Amino acid sequence: MRCDRCGRDAVLFQRYSGMHLCSKHFKEDAERKIRRKIRKSRIGKGEKIALALSGGKDSSVAAYVLKNVFRDWKDIDLIAITIDEGIEGYRDEMIDGAKLLTKKLHIDHRIESFEDNFDYTIDEIACIKRDLGICSFCGVLRRKLLNAVAREEGATLLATGHNLDDEAQTVLMNILRGDVERLARFVPSKVQPGLIPRLKPLSEIPENEVILYANLEKLPIPHESCPYVHEAMRRDIRGMLNDLEERHPGTKHSLMGAFYKINESLKEKYVQGELNRCERCGEPCIGNLCQSCKLLDKIKREKD
Ligand code: SF4
Ligand SMILES: [Zn+2]
Ligand SMILES: [Zn+2]
Repeated sequence: MRCDRCGRDAVLFQRYSGMHLCSKHFKEDAERKIRRKIRKSRIGKGEKIALALSGGKDSSVAAYVLKNVFRDWKDIDLIAITIDEGIEGYRDEMIDGAKLLTKKLHIDHRIESFEDNFDYTIDEIACIKRDLGICSFCGVLRRKLLNAVAREEGATLLATGHNLDDEAQTVLMNILRGDVERLARFVPSKVQPGLIPRLKPLSEIPENEVILYANLEKLPIPHESCPYVHEAMRRDIRGMLNDLEERHPGTKHSLMGAFYKINESLKEKYVQGELNRCERCGEPCIGNLCQSCKLLDKIKREKD
């Protein structure tokens, strides 16, 4: 197949747009969407962006494009933060990849571990807490640590590598669980003190295109996957959305488009209140104790 823009060999048939694209025009298309997303976040002079870099394909591509986008913006600082959850045989390889990439891209890199910050690794938590999805623990603790470290670094934005598939899965998962309030919080309507606003530069790029971009740019991406399975529901939704996208190209984009329209009304119904500070760790939270402190309490109780 030939590229619809220049006639060279195509590397991608973008079913949702009906376009065949060569390597050059595919990368241009992806970078245009990423720049548009970054522009929408109204980044100004003197900002410091902390990137959550796991070492996987999404955040590695995010590191690469952010570095390129901000190359000419002299006043923007970029730092990568990698969280070591303590998952033997998996995270070590990812961390090596993250180190390699940040060195290659000349991005400052900070690594923080669950063990140093919470006294437990995910492997230890998995041994203690066999009855609960380990990913919920991992996600809550990681988000807290990322926010705290980004704040400590003086970051004004926290960038993550979430792609279009991740976003569409989360929206659909909240709808299917009937959790409308959480859905309303998915795009925060105001900046909360202590909570670093998010930037998701890849949120309009489908997962298969992120993989293609990473391969074309020969980014060092490990192929190991985490030994703890993802939540069963997300896995099911992922399969369902991929099936729908295959049969009805553009489904994921339409779902997100509908969500952004509905979100305007959701924000009016579920007005975002002021957050408190966790009375134990000081992180922003609803109520007196943050989710992480509550989960760590559970772990301690179960262990004793
Ligand atoms: S798959 Fe689950 S346990 Fe593994 S890194 Fe992701 S959230 Fe953590
Ligand atoms: Zn082309
Ligand atoms: Zn807390």
